[in-house]
Amino acid sequence: MSPGEPQQPRPDADDAPAIRCEACRSALDAPGREAVAFLLFEGLTVPVVGCADHLERFRATCGFATERTVELLQHRPAGGVPCPGCRLAPHNPRQPVVPIDDGVVAVLACSTHNTEIVERFRTGRRTRQQLTTPLDPPGSTQY
Ligand SMILES: [Zn+2]
Ligand SMILES: [Zn+2]
Repeated sequence: MSPGEPQQPRPDADDAPAIRCEACRSALDAPGREAVAFLLFEGLTVPVVGCADHLERFRATCGFATERTVELLQHRPAGGVPCPGCRLAPHNPRQPVVPIDDGVVAVLACSTHNTEIVERFRTGRRTRQQLTTPLDPPGSTQY
């Protein structure tokens, strides 16, 4: 005999961050396909997933944390992914994601490189905020 309670637990609904960018959401739903891009960062090659727009923001933000060029490739680089851990990471279904504006980027790296990239991203974001904070209110320039 069932008590007839219309209770439907949905545990999968609240551990994911709110992703307002639909392109990011569909990119994350299809890992392992052409949605994967590669972030080239200080000698690291790290697979990343997100929409083109948010991946580019992620790349640009990481660029604030280094004096070297951060590149984003839409294809597998010639040398492949050198780190064996990072190479296996895309097959792990529970990759942490990094919120960026209204989207997310999943860093499909081993935990060491994941931490490294996320640290750089945070540093870059802080630097960017400092740089973009206007010293003078707009319109104060006399012409
Ligand atoms: Zn997006
Ligand atoms: Zn790695």
